[in-house]
Amino acid sequence: VMSNPLRPALLAAARSERVKGAVLKAPVTRSIVRRFVAGETLDDAMAAAAALLAAGRSVSIDYLGEDTFDVGEARATVVAYLALIAELGRLPQAGVDGVHPLEVSVKLSALGQGLPADGDKIALDHARTICSAAQTHGVWVTVDAEDHTRTDSTLSIVGSLRADFPWLGAVVQAYLRRTEGDCRDLAGAGSRIRLCKGAYSEPESVAYQSRAEVDASYMRCLATLMRGDGYPMVATHDPTIIGSVDELLRETGRNVDGFEHQMLFGIRELEQKRLVDAGRRVRVYVPYGSQWYGYFMRRLAERPSNLWFFMRSAATR
Ligand code: FAD
Repeated sequence: VMSNPLRPALLAAARSERVKGAVLKAPVTRSIVRRFVAGETLDDAMAAAAALLAAGRSVSIDYLGEDTFDVGEARATVVAYLALIAELGRLPQAGVDGVHPLEVSVKLSALGQGLPADGDKIALDHARTICSAAQTHGVWVTVDAEDHTRTDSTLSIVGSLRADFPWLGAVVQAYLRRTEGDCRDLAGAGSRIRLCKGAYSEPESVAYQSRAEVDASYMRCLATLMRGDGYPMVATHDPTIIGSVDELLRETGRNVDGFEHQMLFGIRELEQKRLVDAGRRVRVYVPYGSQWYGYFMRRLAERPSNLWFFMRSAATR
């Protein structure tokens, strides 16, 4: 998390329209973006999903977009999700009993959460529309976690929706100081909780800053979820954390069908395969769409080698 000294600058750039213009113009950008994003169209997403499903993995598909301040744009996002869900509903994996291999991930800020008037209510209504379509088509939904100013609103919207859609998943971020407490509150029967480290730039007042502190928090949160009665979704590429799962399974007696690993599209492909071969459930988060800028910059910020690859290719053009 903190091992990359350029992380704060990159995460600031992820919110800058000026840098966005420059990155979008760089001729090399597209080929590198394709390492992390399935493509711009629904067909691209479906092709990536088909390949992953054929390889024994589950998917969570994300229609890229965030921080909408335009209600028309938020509605267009709902329409895109309805098309995606209908398309997933045609696959033989739709509605499989127990754990659904097909899921979509949704950002409430793309559904209008940030609108000045009634943002929370608009996002809740939009998410409800998406959840009922998903229920009809045998697809699951998880609500992504965004920056800390939205955590309360997001968890409360998820809480309201879970009354009607008890299978709805939520995400918590180990870098936030509050998250251990959230994990205790959310570890109850029937809850699906994705635990990740967290991808945004957050102040010291609310978030651990060093890698060691974030990793230690992740381990405490993971133990809480594994000892609880819900369905933990272990979203990390970190080999140390993934390795620690064995011990937690022994300690808690939890079955391998009682949780899943999750990784991002294009990252640690061989490890995804290894886990599937070892009998683990693995779900891959597959982003697609034209609004890839923020997502792409967060991936560059995570890993210096991704950034160097980008800079080197850009410089040698
Ligand atoms: P890091 O500390 O970034 O990496 C740990 C180790 O993993 C590295 O040292 C390396 O050994 C290995 N590694 C990482 N990347 C690579 C690579 N490219 N190749 C080889 N090895 C690698 N964040 C949010 O804020 N909100 C969300 O809703 C959210 N959803 C997510 C969903 C999924 C399924 C996943 C996997 C992540 C999600 N994230 C989300 C992002 C997350 O918060 C982290 O930013 C991201 O996963 C990187 O953290 P890490 O746990 O992999 O650990």
